[in-house]
Order: sequence, then C-alpha cells, then structure tokens
Amino acid sequence: MSLGQPLPVLMYHHISPKPGLVTCSPDNFRAHMQWLADNGWKTLSTDEFAQALTDGVMPKKSVLVTFDDGYLDNWVYAHPVLKEFGQRATLFLITGWMGEGEVRPHAGQPGVPDVPTHGQAMAAAADGKLDTAFLRWSEVEAMRAAGTFDFHSHTHSHTRWDRQIADQGERDQALADDLAASRATLAARLGEASPHLCWPQGYYDAAYQRVAQAAGFTHLYTTAPGVARRDTDPVRIPRLVVKDKPANWFCGRMGLYGRPLLSALYLGLKSGKKGF
Ligand SMILES: [Zn+2]
Repeated sequence: MSLGQPLPVLMYHHISPKPGLVTCSPDNFRAHMQWLADNGWKTLSTDEFAQALTDGVMPKKSVLVTFDDGYLDNWVYAHPVLKEFGQRATLFLITGWMGEGEVRPHAGQPGVPDVPTHGQAMAAAADGKLDTAFLRWSEVEAMRAAGTFDFHSHTHSHTRWDRQIADQGERDQALADDLAASRATLAARLGEASPHLCWPQGYYDAAYQRVAQAAGFTHLYTTAPGVARRDTDPVRIPRLVVKDKPANWFCGRMGLYGRPLLSALYLGLKSGKKGF
C-alpha cells in the first residue's frame, strides 16, 4: 500500500528573543525559513493547502507554516523573515483579542516594541492588557498586504467551553456563538469569513466538530502530531510542533517528514508524543 506524499503542517506560536513556552528565537526561525528557501521548499497559502487536500494530491517539498493566537511578536519578528524569503504562513487569530491603533515598528526598524514572554502574555490577557501582547488589526492588514500571512479563526475568545459549561446544549450554543462572533469579526475586518479554524489548546470532541461544521468551518486544525496526506480528513488536520532549535535539527526533521515511509515510521515510533 502506498502511503502517499506527506505534507508537513508546522506549528509555531511565539517568535521572540525572550525564551519561554511555545517560543522559537528569531535566529532559529530565520534558520528554519532559510533552510526551506535554500532547499527548494514552498510555503503554501492556506487556500493552496486546502486545494491540495481537495485534489488528493500533496505536492512535494511543500509545507504549511502555521501560527496560533496572534502575538505581537509574529509581526515584530516573524513577518520580516517571511518577507525576506518571499514566504508565507497561516495565522489563527483569537479575533476578540485584537487591538486598535497604529502599526508598531518591526525588527529592522527603529523603536521595536518590547514583546512579552508567553507567561507575561497570558498574564496580560487575564488583566485585559491585550495590546501589549497581541496584534492590532492594522498590523494584520499590513501583513496581509505584504503577502506574508493569511488570517483565520482561532475562535473569538479562546475559551474551553467544555471546562466552563456542563450542560451539553448550553455548551454547544456558547461555542456556536463564539464561532459566529469570530466569523463576523473576520468578515467585517478582512472582507471574508475563513472556513479554517484552529482549536484552542488543540481540544475538540465530536460535538465541537459538529458545531464548527454547522458554523461553516470546513478545515479544522488540531495539535495531534502527524503529517497531512492525500487521505487526511480536513476536519482533523494534524500539525507538528517546531522546537526552538537550529537549522541542522530542522533539516533532520524535514528530511524525515518529507518522505512517505520514513515519516510514517517516525510518527509511529513517537506514538502520540508531542514534538516535532
Ligand atoms: Zn491558542
């Protein structure tokens, strides 16, 4: 049986010089993107990835680079790197956490803003000081115009409703309302409501999936480790956590995940363990 060409879907959160949880340094991120560029890999748009799934043909040397949450550091440190190499990535925004105001400077410009660590960003979110840690709509528009990112939903409030509401009907309604708010916000801000949704903390169940599909989401991104293949179910897209490690490590992993049999063997060996 042929396994088919694998297509790695990479997952990043923070690109920041301050180490912390789910954080990759700007130097290592640049090394990853440079490795892709130097070795002839194409970073797909979200639409191109969806088309590959629809066609059932995964193009070789292609990768989907994803980011979750919408941190300020994605603009400050990831955007300039993607622009430098003519690459693109997918960003899942918590649409209710976005700020207003002018575009802030990014790396390579004077007056680069201080970016918080992951822990500080979570504390800022709890305190309602979202603007210090998360993107502004003006920055989203700038990245969209530059072609470095396209933008999709990571829900409106990043709430784990399964932990908040015991009653199934009420929980489903809360999730439906959250997703509707996210789609309405994206439609109002970007002119279109994306059919791509990434689950907060990777959590979903059958009811979540049903609610999301009813809301109009056709592609659901998980944190289950794996590579996309021609038979990947678009409502259970696996992703690979990228570690804060240099190019030689990235090269080794991409060598594994880009090959049909090796990737299957390696993922089997890891058997559910998280990590790239
Ligand atoms: Zn998240």
